[in-house]
Amino acid sequence: MSKTVKGPASNTKKIKNRGSTSTDKNEIEECGVCKKLVGEEDQGLECEVCKKWWHSGCVDIEDSEYEMLARHCKGTIHWYCPSCNGKTLQMMKLIQELNEKITKNELELQTINNDIQAKMQTISTVLDDIQSDMAKMRTDIDSGLAQHTVITEIKEEINEVKSQSFVDIVKQEVEKMEGEVNVVKQALTETRESAEEERDKEARRNNIIIYRMKESAAASAELRRQDDFDILVELLDKVFEVDYKDGDIKRAIRLGKKEEGTDRPILVEFQSRMLKNYIMENLKKLGSADRKFKSLSVTHDMTKKEREQCKLMVASAKLKEQQEGQGEYIFRVRGPPSQMKVMRFRKRE
Ligand SMILES: [Zn+2]
Ligand SMILES: [Zn+2]
Repeated sequence: MSKTVKGPASNTKKIKNRGSTSTDKNEIEECGVCKKLVGEEDQGLECEVCKKWWHSGCVDIEDSEYEMLARHCKGTIHWYCPSCNGKTLQMMKLIQELNEKITKNELELQTINNDIQAKMQTISTVLDDIQSDMAKMRTDIDSGLAQHTVITEIKEEINEVKSQSFVDIVKQEVEKMEGEVNVVKQALTETRESAEEERDKEARRNNIIIYRMKESAAASAELRRQDDFDILVELLDKVFEVDYKDGDIKRAIRLGKKEEGTDRPILVEFQSRMLKNYIMENLKKLGSADRKFKSLSVTHDMTKKEREQCKLMVASAKLKEQQEGQGEYIFRVRGPPSQMKVMRFRKRE
């Protein structure tokens, strides 16, 4: 066995440079037990942990054991000095435990990681669902708002209609219709009245009314009528110088109810308008007639409306005369009913 083999069989433990000049050479080569140098000739062992040298005899390694260590070259047999041995075992154990713990922790971490990943996946899915729900909700809200707006508008319209109750609407319509019917009625009435008025005028066109003509005192109505007729013919003949023919006077009737001491006006209807007009145009002849006829007053036979118009005209003539004061004129209504007007005449002294 070579004395130059100082370390155990592990290739790292073999001393390759015994002649090294490093400053700690002595310290390294000093035996950890006896403090003497571990020489070339000594059986030395280097501790794998603290790298210190030991005499095999100082650390109770027998020669056979030393031989085996020196021969070993696979690196699976290790030698630790007495001071490192216990610590190394403890450390190895610790490392082992740490390894186990680390492995266990790594497994747990892996599990936790897997859990987290699974949970993250779930959360992501849930989040996606929530987002899509929210998007749908937003759409629903938007369409709901739009619907709400439409519904509000409809409600407002309904309220407007409601505030004007159905009965009111019907009432209004009926009133409108009544108004229209009344307008038509009014127009009809006016048309009828105006037609009536025209007929009335037409019927009176050939009539005159004579006032202050003496009434007969005869006993029977027939006789009195005959008396009136005779006077009228005399009037036409003597005053108006008309060549009277039978039928020229269609009828002659006293108007109103007989009263003692008064002579009722007499309505005379002529056969022809020409005769009537002739008389009305020649009333001045009365002025120069016999006493019997001189005081007679003759007028057109006017409709109610014409009489009212005439009254107004007469009132207007009176007013003009009053305004004239002590003037030299008088004002009279003249002309046939449809053409009556107020005329001015010079006063006769
Ligand atoms: Zn020693
Ligand atoms: Zn050691």
